[in-house]
Amino acid sequence: MNASPLVIVGASYAGTQLAASARELGFDAPIVMLGDERHAPYQRPPLSKGVLTGKTTLDSLPLRGADFFDVQGIDLRLGHRATALNTGAQTLTLDDGSILKYGTLALATGARCRPLPVTGSDLEGVFNLRTLDDALRVSDALSKATRACVIGGGFIGLEVASALAARGASVTVVESQPRLLARSFPPLMSEYLANAHRQRNVELVLGRGVRALSGASGRVEHVELDDGRRIDCDMVVLGIGVQPNVELAQQAGVACDNGILTDALGRTSAPNVIAVGDVANTEAPTTPGGPARMRLESIQAANDGARAAASALAGKPQPFEGVPWFWSDQHNLKLQMAGLAMPGDEVIARGDMQTDRFSLFYLREGAVVAAHSVNRPAEHMLSRKLIARRVRIDPQQLSDESFDLKTL
Ligand code: NAP
Repeated sequence: MNASPLVIVGASYAGTQLAASARELGFDAPIVMLGDERHAPYQRPPLSKGVLTGKTTLDSLPLRGADFFDVQGIDLRLGHRATALNTGAQTLTLDDGSILKYGTLALATGARCRPLPVTGSDLEGVFNLRTLDDALRVSDALSKATRACVIGGGFIGLEVASALAARGASVTVVESQPRLLARSFPPLMSEYLANAHRQRNVELVLGRGVRALSGASGRVEHVELDDGRRIDCDMVVLGIGVQPNVELAQQAGVACDNGILTDALGRTSAPNVIAVGDVANTEAPTTPGGPARMRLESIQAANDGARAAASALAGKPQPFEGVPWFWSDQHNLKLQMAGLAMPGDEVIARGDMQTDRFSLFYLREGAVVAAHSVNRPAEHMLSRKLIARRVRIDPQQLSDESFDLKTL
């Protein structure tokens, strides 16, 4: 074995996939993986869904089998935080003062919850939801709560609102934008989702900011809005977005701009330093008219970016060229998204939105560039192929449900 280890900072999807793919591709140097949580790498999607409703058991969460890291020769060190990076000496300092020398350093440091900058956000009963320990705290609080307020109408907010409603709490979602999921969805989907949540007893307050959280004896009791309205609650969950953990890279002079800047193989501006996952702002081929680089916060992007970076480490560089996709479960709705829709795309509906079973396809220059499906998994899978192949489609055929899309 080569003596200079690959040191991976971060033990979630990107870090784990990088280590696994590197081994699969024959990378035989030692691998050290550092995680600052106490848990071995685990799945995150259930944290805002099944872990809260009780449908997901904790033993089903690990990302890999118990002996995976040993068998693969990956030295997984949990409860360790890297505090300083020296790219000249190729060393990393840990919070216990120890220093690790690396051959290649992979920054898979992820992102952390944006703080809510108002008084009262540190009251008891106010929760973030990013880690397994966060989810366990929310779940525990929920067993004693009847009125919950969720701040942020993004993916976390809406999934948590669905789970809280399923457990019988009355739920209000406060979103500062005039519509839900404004960064990910065009207005038509936002409107559909708003109706769907309201029909399922989730109250929505859109276009309103939060002025303060307040409560007697240190516990949250009210969310005060900027129009003077007060929402009574006995718990608050924050889902107001994340910010990339770039500090280690930044203080070492690695180029950053909304994340750590990388090429399509994860390489940063510093020699022998790569970045993968939510923290990486990656040059990636997208669709015509799409952005030249993106910091995508999704499991697919983390895994595929890590595979590409591993291919370079193993001397077989293979940049990722695929369609971004992700999903969200809200109430009885399975939302699946493929590609990246942009303002100005032509929107074609297939199926009736009132039935909660439909797809919206987005066309740019006659080709499908994105699709949003609700309870139509087969159409979602097909849309990924249509987008990857840049298939041009007659909009009438697309909206005609008797036309078999597979023939395309
Ligand atoms: P998000 O999707 O960015 O949504 C946060 C929402 O909160 C945005 O609409 C944001 O508006 C709004 N907001 C910001 N400040 C606010 C305030 N003070 N009051 C009310 N609303 C406010 O982020 P998230 O839902 O927190 O999710 C965090 C991360 O987890 C994301 O990376 C997300 O993709 C990921 N995640 C993914 C899934 C999934 O794919 N199914 C599920 C859960 C989480 P602005 O845009 O104007 O800031």
